[in-house]
Amino acid sequence: MAVNYEAVIGLEAHVQVRTKSKMFCSCPNHFGAEPNTQTCPVCMGMPGVLPTLNREAVNKAVVAGLMCGCEISKRSKFDRKNYFYPDLVKNYQITQYDQPICKNGKIHICGTGFSGAPLADKYIGMTRIHMEEDPGKSFHTANGSGLDYNRSGVPLLEIVSEPDMRSADEAYAYLTALKQIMQYADVSDCDMEKGQMRCDVNVSIRERGAKEFGVKVEIKNLNSFRAAHRAVTYEIKRQILVLESGGTITQDTRGWNDEAGESYVMRTKENAHDYRYFPEPDLLPVVFTDEEIEEYRKNLPELPEVRRERYVQDYGLTPYDAQIITMERGYAAYFEKAAAKSAVPKLVANWFITDLLRLLNENSVDIADCKIAPEQLAALVDLIQAGTINGKTAKTVFEDMFQTGENPGDIVKAKGLVQVSDESAVAAFVDQVIANNPAQVEQYKSGKANVIQFFIGQTMKLSKGKANPQLVQKLVKERLG
Ligand code: ADP
Ligand code: ZN
Ligand code: MG
Repeated sequence: MAVNYEAVIGLEAHVQVRTKSKMFCSCPNHFGAEPNTQTCPVCMGMPGVLPTLNREAVNKAVVAGLMCGCEISKRSKFDRKNYFYPDLVKNYQITQYDQPICKNGKIHICGTGFSGAPLADKYIGMTRIHMEEDPGKSFHTANGSGLDYNRSGVPLLEIVSEPDMRSADEAYAYLTALKQIMQYADVSDCDMEKGQMRCDVNVSIRERGAKEFGVKVEIKNLNSFRAAHRAVTYEIKRQILVLESGGTITQDTRGWNDEAGESYVMRTKENAHDYRYFPEPDLLPVVFTDEEIEEYRKNLPELPEVRRERYVQDYGLTPYDAQIITMERGYAAYFEKAAAKSAVPKLVANWFITDLLRLLNENSVDIADCKIAPEQLAALVDLIQAGTINGKTAKTVFEDMFQTGENPGDIVKAKGLVQVSDESAVAAFVDQVIANNPAQVEQYKSGKANVIQFFIGQTMKLSKGKANPQLVQKLVKERLG
């Protein structure tokens, strides 16, 4: 009889903290500069230099931890993790080992999963969050390889989950929730294309109902949530095949080839690193009093989940719409500004989701660079609501706004798109259509009721889309009798 397997997944995420300067020196923490222009003797690991801890990075680590429901350690310390790699200038990384700054948190997941299936409403435990410095970055070109140390010393949070996830959808939801929290907490933009968030997935399988976990495999350096979802799905299938064919799972570290859609062995347990951690002698422990931690707690920003709930309550959005709008902090900020200016926030949400997000996506435009200001979206919705333009015209006005950034009112005026709601004007269109199409009138009279759609369509066309659709419908029915 076939075994019923259950997957067990735990995630390790690295999030770059957005600070003015790096973790232990005053070099700018800034992405995109020419290689090796944002460095100094400290982040280049020169002999004899001393690190100075960046308070802003510590503050953001505490906020991140509290937003994820963690306990903040009243005393945490730094350690050296020793290994040799060209991007690691000192041959050790300053990190935290046995005393991380945050412990025992949890993140709520619910709603709809990546695959479209509903998610179990549950909490994913967070084992710890610790602070560490990013190494530099090697790059490879046709002319050879290079090293860029601009990233060396950028503050990072390593966020380790409990093995609480049971499907690729749950892993995806956890990552999404984590990213949102980091964005709303102002800790990081989590732009994965800029390497501001990276993740490793740990996957094992076991017979459903078993008490013990199976042997886990770690897949490193997934650079998108979609890749993480695919890698987990693949790895679960691979492990089941191994067990079903009588094999055993080995505790490997694997890489992910997104093009091939396959994981591959990077290293086996036998050649795992021994990092020989030891305490960092050049930095003092990080110490907080209860009062200080309380102070942080009092000033925390709103959680994405709380905001979602607020959108449902205040604006009457469906939970699904609220989930989409809060997906990115930039979406939520945009929506709130537009909703505040409109009498019908729910309609604003519909336009935001179905039209604005589609156009942004099709044109690869970031919401921050969108030419339509939130107030202009609100103005468009109010024009529809007031009956000045109909929904169909609004779509073309919207496309126009997206390209030009002009006000909807100005576009409507300049192009003469005001809806025709005057009954006699609309009736004139209808009468003309009826006069021009005697054959269809016959068809209608002989019982083909759906010919009515033809008349409505022709009338809208004759009015260049400007006739009030409800009025057209009413008059066509009246006139045909
Ligand atoms: P390691 O010693 O290999 O670093 P840890 O116990 O520190 O392993 O866990 C690393 C990550 O792997 C954590 O996110 C944890 O939740 C996850 N994990 C641990 N055991 C398993 C398992 N059997 N299956 C899936 N994930 C696991
Ligand atoms: Zn520096
Ligand atoms: Mg570990």
